[in-house]
This record gives sequence, structure tokens and C-alpha cells, in this order.
Amino acid sequence: MGAAVLDGMWEQTSDENARKSRWWQWFSGGAEESADEPSEESQVSRELTAREVWLPAKRRMISRIADFLIDHELEVLPTTLTVAYECVTGGAPRLAQTILERTEKGLPITLGWIEEQRGESTHDKNGEALAVLMGRLEDSLDEFSKATNGARNATNEYSSALRQHVDELEGVGRAGVVITELAALTRAMMERSIAVENELACSERRAQALQTSLEETRRIADIDHLTGLPNRRAFDHMLEREMREAREAGESLCVAFVDIDHFKRVNDTHGHPAGDRVLKFVSETLNRIADARCFVARHGGEEFAIVLRNHTIDKAWKKLDAARAEIAERRLVNRANDTPFGKITFSGGIADAFAYPDKSGALKAADEALYLAKQSGRNRIFRAGEDPGPLVKAA
Ligand code: GH3
Ligand code: MG
Ligand code: MG
Repeated sequence: MGAAVLDGMWEQTSDENARKSRWWQWFSGGAEESADEPSEESQVSRELTAREVWLPAKRRMISRIADFLIDHELEVLPTTLTVAYECVTGGAPRLAQTILERTEKGLPITLGWIEEQRGESTHDKNGEALAVLMGRLEDSLDEFSKATNGARNATNEYSSALRQHVDELEGVGRAGVVITELAALTRAMMERSIAVENELACSERRAQALQTSLEETRRIADIDHLTGLPNRRAFDHMLEREMREAREAGESLCVAFVDIDHFKRVNDTHGHPAGDRVLKFVSETLNRIADARCFVARHGGEEFAIVLRNHTIDKAWKKLDAARAEIAERRLVNRANDTPFGKITFSGGIADAFAYPDKSGALKAADEALYLAKQSGRNRIFRAGEDPGPLVKAA
């Protein structure tokens, strides 16, 4: 069963039980090596290039991660990908052992069970590491796809050439047994190469499907699950891109931080779920100012970050202050018990992104302006460098 079971990417097996533990066999060192190892013959004839050594290893790892997800009928998600990666690389031996024991008892490995094992904070904690992993997987899949395509074309050409010659050989074969045997051998080789061609096409389709799932996973990993806004990591990338493009186009660019005032009180008085609803309300109102040149992201907690392209600092201020006034005028009520939330307000700080040596300088300036807005009494937007006047004690 060894190689056929292990090389799930290359060969199909009907042995369901064997399939269920093929990733584990590899993890525990109990399985044979894969068939895509370079053959002895090719090693004798020439030195292997570094690429020929690491590319099959990469393919095997992706194949095993895919096997893990498929065998346990798991979706391709940040959490499941991380667990699969950790299990096949030996990064989480205890978890891998628990999964194996559970599988042997016939118990399912579900997303809920995995999340329980890893704790609720896993998603955020692993976001960055996962992005790196997904990047590597995408690169590997891309390489794999190209290599598969090349190999398939080569096999195809090889089969066509063989088919042409084998018919001629069989014709001559009547003259001698040796030639007949040679023809039979060639025909067998030809059939094998056609089978390989089909297996490669199948692997290529699977790699493409995995690539699509990875793209979707990457998209999900960039979104804050509560508000649906881009998260902090996505914001960092967005800001870098916008700064680069605005600089090239000679356009202005502002960056802003917004923080809900006394939000802890909302949670303390109305509870966390009600606090979440307020957060969503503020995020939706803020996001209404977003367009092709203005991006709103949840930077963390009750803080939002905004990029305003082609906006002078005064134009950006007006836009943000209008959103601030709109929220401050509303009187929200907690729908769970009809209790008023009171006035919900936020404070903000804006900086001209190009008035500082780099991105972090601009972010720091916006953050300092936000701090001054808080110090000056909250429910206001400050421009970086603006004179706050006599500071009043925070309410
Ligand atoms: P300030 O005006 O100075 O910003 O005061 P604040 O109370 O808003 O700030 P503080 O940093 O003291 O408290 C922020 C609170 O936001 C504490 C934290 O529990 C809450 N918070 C952060 N993220 C979430 C979330 O996703 N949902 C809810 N409901 N609360 C959150
Ligand atoms: Mg706050
Ligand atoms: Mg805060």
C-alpha cells in the first residue's frame, strides 16, 4: 500500500482506511518515500540541481497538507491549514497524536473541535504566520502547476512519437521475435506514459483547486470578522500601496486614526455583545465615507485607521469631522433591553502622510494627534501639528 497511499496527489486508492492515516504515516516516519523522488538512473547520469531537490519536497508537503484536509473532510481555512501544516511538519506532535487517536476511535475531526483545542485566540495570533504560510503555499502551487504542465506536454510529445514508431515496429515484427518483443515493450512504455500524463493532468487540476481555495482564504484572512472591514494587516499593505501610488502620481495622501470615546463604559454598562453592536454601528457609519480613494480599516479594539488619497489635510478633516458629527447626533438604544446607550462619540487624529520621513512617522503623528484630541475633551478630530489650545482634563 505504501507509495500508492502516500502519493495521494499522484495515484488514487480505493482503500479508505489506509487513506485516513496516510498523512500520519508520513509524519511518524512509517511510510515509504514518494514516487516523485529522482530516480537512481538520473542521479547516476548527472548531478541534481538544488531546484530538483527542493521542488519535490515542497510538492510532497503540499500534498500531505491537502491529504490531511481531504481525509478529515475539513474546509481550507486559516485554522485548519495551520493545524494541517503543524501536523505534517511535526510542529505540534501532541495535537497530531490526539488527532490520530480520535481518528482511530472513529471520531470526526471537525473545525469546532480543532478550534476548541487551540483556544479562541488562535485565529488572530496565527494571522501573520498563516499569511506567510499561504504565501509559500501559493508560490509552491504556482511552481507545481508550471512544472506539471511542462511534464505533461513532454509526456504528450513522447507518447505521440512512440505511437508513430510502434506501429512501424509491429509491421517489421513479423520478421523477427526480437523486434516483436521490442514493440511490445515500447507499447507498454507508451501506455504507462499516457497514464502518467493523465495523473499529471489530475494533479494539476487539484493544485488549481487548492490555489483557488488559498486565494479565498487569503481574502478572508484580511477581513475583520466582527465589522467586515479590512483588518490591521490589510491596512498596513493598503497604506504602503497607496503611499507608493500617490507618490508616483504626485497626489496628496492623509492617514487618520479614530478611537471610540469611553468605550469601556459601554461594555461595562451594557455588556460585551451590546458593545459589539455599537462597534459595528460606528464601523458602518465610518465606512460610508469610503470610496475608491478612501479606505477604512479596523486597526484593533475600538480603533479604526483610515487612508485618504488625493485629500489635503483640511479636506480629510472635513470628511472625518462630518462622520464624527453624524454619530454624535444619534441617540442609540440597546435593543436587548431598550436602554439608551447615551451619546456615542469618537475622537480622531489626521496626518499628511508625506510630511514625515516614512510611513511609521506619519502613523505616529496621526496617533499623537488622536491622543491630543482625547486630552482636549474627546469627540473631536485634530490635525497633526495643530495647536490644541489650552488642554482640558479628559472628561
Ligand atoms: P478612551 O476614550 O480613552 O479611548 O476610553 P476607552 O474606554 O474607549 O478606552 P480603553 O482602552 O480604556 O477601553 C477600550 C475598550 O474596548 C476595552 C475593550 O474591552 C473594548 N473592546 C476592544 N475590542 C472590543 C470588541 O471587539 N468588542 C467589544 N465589545 N469591546 C471591545
Ligand atoms: Mg477608546
Ligand atoms: Mg483604544
